[in-house]
Amino acid sequence: MQTPAQAIVPGVLEVITGPMFSGKSEELIRRLKRARIARQRVACYKPDIDLRYHRTAIASHSQQTHDAQTVRSVEDLRAVLFPILADVEVVGIDEVQFLSAEVIPLVAELIMLGKRIILGGLDMTFEAEPFGPVPQLMAMADKVTKLSAVCMVCGQPAIHTQRLGQSQELVVVGATGLYEARCRTHFTPHVDESGSEQLELVARADV
Ligand code: ADP
Ligand code: MG
Repeated sequence: MQTPAQAIVPGVLEVITGPMFSGKSEELIRRLKRARIARQRVACYKPDIDLRYHRTAIASHSQQTHDAQTVRSVEDLRAVLFPILADVEVVGIDEVQFLSAEVIPLVAELIMLGKRIILGGLDMTFEAEPFGPVPQLMAMADKVTKLSAVCMVCGQPAIHTQRLGQSQELVVVGATGLYEARCRTHFTPHVDESGSEQLELVARADV
């Protein structure tokens, strides 16, 4: 019996998601390192909006890193990936929420070309809205790993990313930076610069 000469076994899509500080980058780095131990050829990318720590690596808040190339857009990603694609078995992308919806057909194409694609990205914004292409990528995935962080108020599992506003009332003592992880109970939707939304919420809670 004849089989088509070009038959390619489809690859798989894995999505690692959850709020900030939930360990998405750690988990992505862990999977990429294991793939390399298995002698698979890995290519890793991140959008250039996220320049924390490194330009040439993805990094976790716990200082773990993995070499990565910074891309400005999905078009840019395609332009750097396709010339080396024949030599690549595993494609990692961190902070995928910052890429446009054009990443969705690209990922679908890579799956059909037999690649293993591992994506890390936020599922929700700090306003608890679906974040960019991530929800659709989760729907397409073979495997979704939804991680939780630790709520910085109570220590329970946190699914939200809280943006810390200007106003003192809701800024938790000891909080550093602009964002922190919060559980459903302690998450409050974003406060604008003037704090008006926050004040409105506080006022409503008082009634
Ligand atoms: P993500 O990519 O999801 O933002 P990282 O992989 O960069 O997460 O970082 C996870 C690490 O962040 C944890 O292993 C821990 O060392 C640290 N960390 C800091 N704050 C928290 C928190 N609130 N909950 C969990 N981990 C935290
Ligand atoms: Mg990360």
